[in-house]
Amino acid sequence: MSEKKRIAILGGGYGGVLTAKKLAKKFKKDENVEITLIDQNPYHTLLTELHEVAADRVSEDSIRIDFKKIFAKRKVNVVMDEITDLDFKNNVLKSKNNTYEYDYLVVGAGSKPTYFGIKGAEEHCHKLWSFEDAVSLKEHILHMFRKAVKETNKEERKKLLTFIVVGGGFTGVEMMGELGEWKERLCKDFYIGEEEVTLILADDLPKILPNFPDKLIAKTKKRLEKLGVKVLTNAGITEVTKDCATIRNNGVVDTYTVIWTAGVEGSDIIGNMEIEQKGRKRIATDDKLQSLDYKNVSVVGDNIFFIPEGEERPLPQMVENAEASAELVAHNIHSDITGGEKKSYKPTFHGAMVCVGGKYGVAHIGTGKKFFALSGFFALFVKHFINVVYFIQVAGFNKCWSYISHEFFHVKDNRSFVGGYFSKSSPNFWLVPLRMFLGYKWLAEGLAKLPSVLADPSKIFLIPAPVVDGATAATAAADTAKTAVEAVVALPVPNFIYKIVKWSMDTFFYTSDGGYTTLAAVFQTCMVIAEICVGLLLIVGLFSALASLMSIAMGTMIWTSGMAPTEMLWYLIAGIALIGGSGSTFGMDYYVLPILKKHWKRLGFVRKSYLYVD
Ligand SMILES: Cc1cc2nc3c(=O)[nH]c(=O)nc-3n(C[C@H](O)[C@H](O)[C@H](O)COP(=O)(O)OP(=O)(O)OC[C@H]3O[C@@H](n4cnc5c(N)ncnc54)[C@H](O)[C@@H]3O)c2cc1C
Repeated sequence: MSEKKRIAILGGGYGGVLTAKKLAKKFKKDENVEITLIDQNPYHTLLTELHEVAADRVSEDSIRIDFKKIFAKRKVNVVMDEITDLDFKNNVLKSKNNTYEYDYLVVGAGSKPTYFGIKGAEEHCHKLWSFEDAVSLKEHILHMFRKAVKETNKEERKKLLTFIVVGGGFTGVEMMGELGEWKERLCKDFYIGEEEVTLILADDLPKILPNFPDKLIAKTKKRLEKLGVKVLTNAGITEVTKDCATIRNNGVVDTYTVIWTAGVEGSDIIGNMEIEQKGRKRIATDDKLQSLDYKNVSVVGDNIFFIPEGEERPLPQMVENAEASAELVAHNIHSDITGGEKKSYKPTFHGAMVCVGGKYGVAHIGTGKKFFALSGFFALFVKHFINVVYFIQVAGFNKCWSYISHEFFHVKDNRSFVGGYFSKSSPNFWLVPLRMFLGYKWLAEGLAKLPSVLADPSKIFLIPAPVVDGATAATAAADTAKTAVEAVVALPVPNFIYKIVKWSMDTFFYTSDGGYTTLAAVFQTCMVIAEICVGLLLIVGLFSALASLMSIAMGTMIWTSGMAPTEMLWYLIAGIALIGGSGSTFGMDYYVLPILKKHWKRLGFVRKSYLYVD
């Protein structure tokens, strides 16, 4: 091995990306370690969301994350290349045009569908295993509807509008659930009656989702049927041609669309490796997740074949396994290089969540020993929560924000478990009068107080007088306000808030002899300046989100100090209404924010901490 340790990671999937990130963190300051991640794509694909693109629930770019973004300012070289050969004896990865030497190799090349030798399946089925698959399946479905709408031959029209998903596992159910939901929109857009569309989910086994409890299976089936899906069990596909599929016990079904989600095997490169394999093209490993043949080769994710102690089945090919194995492999490689102790792989899995369209889902989750069955809102809540936890690790705020936007703020046809409540929007120009008016009100408030502050900054009129025994904050506030402007009926303040405010006033603003501190005078001057600034910013529409937040904050401060008239309520509420970029219409935000955004994204620490939106 060379002086410098070269760690190569083959595959930037769930396992590869996390391994690279964890290794980069561990070797942050070690100049003698070089980490290279090689993937055939320039982006990380979120395989678990493919069905959402395939059935047009979310936009295409929502299921890809640029590797450059993920590894910005991190010690990972990203190389886009397709590895075609591995020479384990000489520690070399080979592609068509390049070779890559390594001292440690992490294999995370993932899986591909397997067709069990069924005649015509590989040739004629659509698969769902990559970004391109999802996009081309969506295009194909749209094409079928486009053709069907002009087709006058009844049989041909039926054939165009028949869709079969093979496999009642997680992926098959998710794909069919999405298609069932999308059908309504497709039929509307293409002037086709919903009763003309045939959706079939076929599985060879006696039940769908075989690892789930019967209660959840029944709920899933009911939901699918509600979406117009025929669920066929004991119904393996025996042959597929370009325009039909033969289904055991159900005969021949004419269709141009058979979507294959029925089985998994290691990706092509794994099949070609000269290394001990088991199962369907998985690399046999020891408990440290090192290959049995080469100790400097570790395996993550779907490619591992290992049966943990006390278990009967090999590790599941699921994201949670990819995440947990990445953690262990990163630790063990770090230990190997630095002389630490290696760990054995003893993962605990917490179950699975399946969405049946965007509005419904089922989940079987737990602590490893005790499992719970969830359905509907709670199941989907957990699914989204788990996704967000993953995105925080991979691309922080940036990806979490884009995920929430895609899943909740920009959903079409209410296809989300919170319906369309967060996605209905109206153009910002309706907010312009409100923005101007709120700005005018703050400006007028500030300008009215400015002469008093300039005349004698130490004369306090914006902070309630110290509370004397028996008096309430409201009376004190009213007394103070009377001297400054005119008497008002203050909005009531809950007792616990009053106590907190009183404590902070006593600490920062009142002296022991019943007067005010210098800080009180500074605060009052700042408040007046802030009112003028917020007013001006809202009027010209510059940094309007920030100005709106300040409107809320200042309104809240005035209210909690016990000096807010009822009118203050709408300063707060209008502030909320204006947060969402009201300055981008007839305001300076329209010009200034894009420039700032561009420069902000260029800052190293911003890219590293993912603190930007695209
Ligand atoms: C449609 C679908 C839905 C799924 N839903 C769920 C779910 O809901 N929950 C769940 O837990 N699991 C789900 N899974 C399974 C889950 O996606 C996998 O277990 C997980 O992706 C495995 O991660 P990985 O890192 O091993 O491989 P992958 O994520 O598949 O990544 C492999 C990477 O290797 C790259 N690669 C492959 N060959 C080469 C080569 N020769 N040269 C260079 N790069 C190469 C690929 O481009 C890819 O980026 C789903 C899978 C699919 C396909």
